[in-house]
Amino acid sequence: MMLKCINCSSIDVGKIGPKQYFCWDCCIEMTITGDKMDVYQVEPDGTVSSLNDLFVDEALVAASEHPGSDPAGDITVA
Ligand SMILES: [Zn+2]
Repeated sequence: MMLKCINCSSIDVGKIGPKQYFCWDCCIEMTITGDKMDVYQVEPDGTVSSLNDLFVDEALVAASEHPGSDPAGDITVA
């Protein structure tokens, strides 16, 4: 199944982990957890900010809760 970026609808989305995908066009990370998706903006300096508030409808996210983990540690941006 091809995953399209929920931000820019690009199909240039790479798999970076078992449940993690990265859009090379707009540099966002999508992490699938069960039946919901968390979306993060990855800045050029490696910092990550949540975009869940923007995509709450499309991502089927009922609540914008975060466990406090830092997903930036798993990302390698070339
Ligand atoms: Zn994108």
